[in-house]
Amino acid sequence: MKFLLFVIGCCVGSFLNSCIYRLPQRISLIKPRSSCPHCKTPLKWYENVPLLSFIILRGRCSHCRQRISLRYPFVELITAVLFVALYQKFGIGMSFFASAFFFCLLIVISFIDIAYHAIPIYLCFLGIVVGLGFSVAKSIILVRQWVFNIYNFPLITAIKGMIVGFGLAYLFKFFGDQFIAFYLAVRKKESIEGEKESLGLGDVDFLGMVGVFMGIQGAVMVFFIAPFLALFYALLAIIFRRSHLIPYLPYLSAASVVVFFWGNHIVRYFFKFLIG
Ligand SMILES: [Zn+2]
Repeated sequence: MKFLLFVIGCCVGSFLNSCIYRLPQRISLIKPRSSCPHCKTPLKWYENVPLLSFIILRGRCSHCRQRISLRYPFVELITAVLFVALYQKFGIGMSFFASAFFFCLLIVISFIDIAYHAIPIYLCFLGIVVGLGFSVAKSIILVRQWVFNIYNFPLITAIKGMIVGFGLAYLFKFFGDQFIAFYLAVRKKESIEGEKESLGLGDVDFLGMVGVFMGIQGAVMVFFIAPFLALFYALLAIIFRRSHLIPYLPYLSAASVVVFFWGNHIVRYFFKFLIG
């Protein structure tokens, strides 16, 4: 079963790759067959097998010999690994499908942000709508089994998470923007390396979506853990002298994965640390 899910994950990852490539350019997801981004030669079926083709072709297009981005096998691999990890956690069921959908969105949104420096906000809204839909379905199942109380009702949990995610991010954006405007006015500058905002509206919507899928605790933890990941990368970037201007959203995504799988451990260790 795990191997089957790994293969399915690779195929879904391959679809996510074409979303990442096509959505920002407004190309249909179905119609033209996959082709080489450099020479536009359509791929033959054996050049379009997830992961394997990249290895067999040694990362180059068989027609024009241009390098194929490492992003393709990378996205396929992380999708496959996430599918297997979700199966370990939930088995096959509503929770599996809801979180698989959530993580697919995280992958697409993050890589679009990395490649184009723009967050597709409509995908965040799609996530919110579908996430609420899943929580309604879960609520209906619970009601029919007569095992629910007001404190763990999925729809209410999702809505509370959404409000807290939105609220927290928006408050931060509000005060952060004031602070940056003040800083720019004092230093008489136009922007900080091209940035004028603390958080973009896309980041705010994204945190609303995280709240829908992961509840209040999840949204709060993602909000506070993401800066540490960004800081960690910034240190690496300084050490290896790479550009440190990379968008913030991938950190929010990475933090979501960390909190999703290890959130309870983090909370437990944190309280142990506090109490001593
Ligand atoms: Zn080519």
